[in-house]
Amino acid sequence: MEGKHYINGEWTIYGDEVIQVMNPATGEQVGTVPNGGEAEATAAIEAAAAAFPSWSKTTVYERADLLMKWHDLLLEHKEEVGEILTKEMGKPLAEAIGEIEYSASFISWFAEEGKRLYGRTIPASKEGKRIQINKQPVGVVVSITPWNFPAAMMARKMAPALAAGCTFVAKPAKLTPLTAVRIYELAEEAGFPKGVINLVTGSASKIGKVFTSHPDVRKLTFTGSTEIGKELMKQSSETMINLSLELGGHAPIIVLDDADLELAVEGVMASKFRNAGQTCVCGNRIYVQSNIVDKFSKMLQEATAKLKVGNGLEEGVTIGPLVDKDGYEKVEKHVQDAVSKGAKVLIGGDGKTENEAYFYNPTVLVNANSDMLVMNEETFGPVAPIMSFEKDEEAVKLANDTRFGLAAYFFTDSMSRGTYLAENLDYGIVGWNDGSPSTAQAPFGGMKESGIGREGGQEGLEAFVETKYISIKL
Ligand code: ADP
Repeated sequence: MEGKHYINGEWTIYGDEVIQVMNPATGEQVGTVPNGGEAEATAAIEAAAAAFPSWSKTTVYERADLLMKWHDLLLEHKEEVGEILTKEMGKPLAEAIGEIEYSASFISWFAEEGKRLYGRTIPASKEGKRIQINKQPVGVVVSITPWNFPAAMMARKMAPALAAGCTFVAKPAKLTPLTAVRIYELAEEAGFPKGVINLVTGSASKIGKVFTSHPDVRKLTFTGSTEIGKELMKQSSETMINLSLELGGHAPIIVLDDADLELAVEGVMASKFRNAGQTCVCGNRIYVQSNIVDKFSKMLQEATAKLKVGNGLEEGVTIGPLVDKDGYEKVEKHVQDAVSKGAKVLIGGDGKTENEAYFYNPTVLVNANSDMLVMNEETFGPVAPIMSFEKDEEAVKLANDTRFGLAAYFFTDSMSRGTYLAENLDYGIVGWNDGSPSTAQAPFGGMKESGIGREGGQEGLEAFVETKYISIKL
């Protein structure tokens, strides 16, 4: 597959330089995209700025119709787009198709939610005055998205922006641009007017600089690491653009002694091993009450033994490769560090690399402690370290002892213990007996250094509007 930029309604290439997109399961080339930079980013922003006045004045009903056409096309092609996703990213095909469905769910949710972008009128304190609050699209939106959810992260930004009346420029991740290209082809088929949606592939730093400095941009929405999020925030201080940042996590999972352990294992498996542990809401560290820790660990080990590692296109595979060598080495380092500090490997603990393909076996560690890297940093791999605790307060303290605050999970059947945990965990998303809380209707986002703003739900639409106050004197 040979991707191109999509700028002002045209598929285009500026120079000869290309980025090779590789299959992390085989090391083979899947396709190429152009290695764009300043010129392409500038042209895309200018196209989006030119399209904004007319697009922002269309009715939300027209915009919703286009969004729904795109939604339907995406679902019609979900197997095909899912296969591109698996080939460039590695996740098992069933998960990839699930991601396309998840992406489509954002499009339909925001097509509807756009119709409920209500303003308000407020009773004035003086006679002969009217106070009116309007919601208006923020303007040209630029987005930067990561490789771990190449479809969903872009759809989650693009759908609300378009529903609100904004125009859009996307920069997908270097490792996984082909899914984005195909999704744009389907959006073109749906019939978005020229300039409303634009796509540029290439150098993140060069494109990022233009995104944060061009005077026509009004909003940057970013999903990626906390480190790059901070850099983009610094760069944006000159232009004062509106920012939404969805950054790193280091999710705790707490299992209390009254939990339904089967449900807890199911939740941990979903949270920990989906996408081979490469999600920002993945449970990274597991705290289990000491009186059930042995039983729980054994159950988790047994469930983990059922996972199958391999090429995501093969039937029955549930764990694909890690995305690249750096990702593999980080996982290896975390496990080795944990073992050197006293952790015991119940299952896994090693991997296999061949032809630039990096597979790590799903791993369960016990006897973890707070000195280990795995308990302090996002591992981004299929490693489940278990540490025991005595009291609920201690578990909350351990869980909150981090600069991240994206997702936290706990398992308990007690209303009062659960309420205590839910209210005291400093996290934007809390899963109570639920290992997969992400959904289009709910606000997703983090506290602390996990970011600014929310995506999905009503809040996900608010992120793309300005509030204008109109004071009328009669
Ligand atoms: P991840 O670990 O998910 O790759 P990154 O923050 O490195 O996290 O990357 C997320 C996205 O940010 C990717 O699309 C990447 O290309 C982009 N990116 C990386 N560095 C920069 C930068 N200096 N400016 C703008 N975007 C960047």
